[in-house]
Amino acid sequence: MPNEILSYLEMCQREGCNLQRGMNFRLKGSHSVILMSVHPNAPYADRLEDNGTTLIYEGHDENRTASCPQPKSVDQPHATGNGTLTQNGKFAQAAQNYKDGKQPPEHVRVYEKLRVGIWSYNGVFHLVDAWREKATNRWVFKFRLVAVENEGEGDLPAAVLERRRIIPTQVKLEVWKRDGGRCTQCGAIDELHFDHVLPYARGGTSITAENVQLLCARHNLQKGDKIL
Ligand SMILES: [Zn+2]
Repeated sequence: MPNEILSYLEMCQREGCNLQRGMNFRLKGSHSVILMSVHPNAPYADRLEDNGTTLIYEGHDENRTASCPQPKSVDQPHATGNGTLTQNGKFAQAAQNYKDGKQPPEHVRVYEKLRVGIWSYNGVFHLVDAWREKATNRWVFKFRLVAVENEGEGDLPAAVLERRRIIPTQVKLEVWKRDGGRCTQCGAIDELHFDHVLPYARGGTSITAENVQLLCARHNLQKGDKIL
């Protein structure tokens, strides 16, 4: 479920492996996983666009090694020295294949770092484009990912699927702080979600913190039953 709040460990358990890096192409078979952060001091420049329905994700740097002591000063790599595609290269190839009509859009689960040890699941996105652009002193990869409504119907073109809106990071952080990291109904500190007080379908918004609250899984479920 999008908007779930997870610890690092829970996130790794969910994906069935240790998530050591930000980009994970086809982690376990059918889907890919990326980790994002829009903090000002984050290592990469990720951002949301189109009312929070689109993620522009920056590719990743060369590994820091003796022969590459300053990864931030060299172009982000497409392939390694022996020609194997890097994560940048694999995601870029999948985006190109999609644009050429050779494969459905790559399904990517996106997790967002809110603060140390606290992650929020942003749901499934479709990878629809990739390009390289000039940063200050080098070339970096950029990936366009669109948040889609129904994970199960993922093979439909992104244009046909209803788009989902991601709760902006500032709002998530404000809500987390205001609600003290606890369910607003019972004070539970695990299995938390960001919940829309008034759901989207009824005209609710996630632009401001007033319409978003923390609920545990139990109270989230109860609320769902009431609305139905
Ligand atoms: Zn609760």
